[in-house]
Amino acid sequence: MRFSQYFLPTLREVPAEAQVVSHQLMLRAGMIHQTCSGIYSWLPLGFRVLSKIEKIIAEEQDRIGCHRVLMPTLQPAKLWQESGRYEDYGKEMLRLKDRHDRDMLYGPTHEEVCTDIARHFIKSYKQLPTILYQISWKFRDEIRPRFGVMRGREFLMKDGYSFNCDRDGAVQAYKKIVLSYLRTFERLGVRAVPVRADSGAIGGDLSHEFHIMAETGESEVFYDQSYDALDLNNASFDDISTLYTAADEKHDPNHCPIPLERVRCARGIEVGHVFYFGQKYSKSMGLSVMGKDGQPFFPEMGSYGIGVSRLVAALIEAHHDKDGILWPEAVAPFQVGIVLIKDNPKIREKAEQLYQKLQDGGIETLYDDRTESAGIKFSDMDLIGLPHQILLGENVNKGVFEWKDRRTGARQELSWDALLEKLG
Ligand code: ATP
Ligand code: MG
Repeated sequence: MRFSQYFLPTLREVPAEAQVVSHQLMLRAGMIHQTCSGIYSWLPLGFRVLSKIEKIIAEEQDRIGCHRVLMPTLQPAKLWQESGRYEDYGKEMLRLKDRHDRDMLYGPTHEEVCTDIARHFIKSYKQLPTILYQISWKFRDEIRPRFGVMRGREFLMKDGYSFNCDRDGAVQAYKKIVLSYLRTFERLGVRAVPVRADSGAIGGDLSHEFHIMAETGESEVFYDQSYDALDLNNASFDDISTLYTAADEKHDPNHCPIPLERVRCARGIEVGHVFYFGQKYSKSMGLSVMGKDGQPFFPEMGSYGIGVSRLVAALIEAHHDKDGILWPEAVAPFQVGIVLIKDNPKIREKAEQLYQKLQDGGIETLYDDRTESAGIKFSDMDLIGLPHQILLGENVNKGVFEWKDRRTGARQELSWDALLEKLG
């Protein structure tokens, strides 16, 4: 991509309305635009990151055998009257009427819609177990939307729903998804801590929240520091769930099962939440399935959420410095930025060649071909936080490339082959 032709409106000033660093940086890096309170448009750079996160989440879900669907954002009130949640949900639910005066709502979550799909198609125990998931927009009329996309009113969520014959099966599904979530967050470039949680409005008897540690987190999280050393790609559910974790007031220093010097305390951003809730929806909504013994039964269910749009902000909270964002490779909007230290036709010609070569090699590159000052180009490139920068100046005559690691600031003069290796 050529910067001069891109839609990338960067800002030099810190916008007054943004209180937390991720919100400031997302606005300054031209990633989002607030359409109205708690409702955002995603501009090209932001949308690239959002899409990359979405893709990784979907790959990890598919890998454990979940099936992707897409359910409607608008739902009939009727389904929620069946489950008994229509009245309870309160003002966070956006309620509307269609032209026939039928009560509708913009979905804050999809247990009812998914249970309705299941009761239509799942008739026999032979069709179980199954897990359906989607990545789609939710609306919750938050009383205090804040921190940009961190707590929006409209937000992107991955939500999944499991259906099993019995409690054992349901708990297996739950454990499988907890482990998969931990691997997903590792791939995205952050470590999330699973914390046992109250299941709140959704109701149920087994629940974990996933927190990313960052100063601006809304919860206080306490956890066994040995969690930090775990290899989450190979850990078992027991390795994880036997470690002490607690959020907010659930941590009581007088009744803590491990020595207090082993407890790490940090602020956490909730990026995921999983529930096992048994037959709550299958019973109330009449999802009845024929069992092996010829008797009908109500499947055991769980639901599993990841805050996809919140993750963009949470990743920035976890990865930034005073100059801007430090994207983990896996979610960076581009891998490489080309910056001209000096501007003359010779250097431009080299830059064009380099840009073409990187493009041909399938390396996502942002070439800052603008006629701005070098200072502006440097600070914009640092702000948007691409992991690799290539700085072109007089050194092009020597046939070398000056490579800068955005995260460490380290610079090195590299041959073409050595450069390609760095960009891996
Ligand atoms: P919170 O406690 O932060 O309000 P929640 O517990 O109400 O969240 P869940 O119903 O567990 O949210 O939704 C699953 C995930 O969706 C959350 O873990 C969070 O990452 C994300 N999420 C929830 N509400 C919002 C929001 N208003 N804006 C952005 N993401 C959200
Ligand atoms: Mg939650």
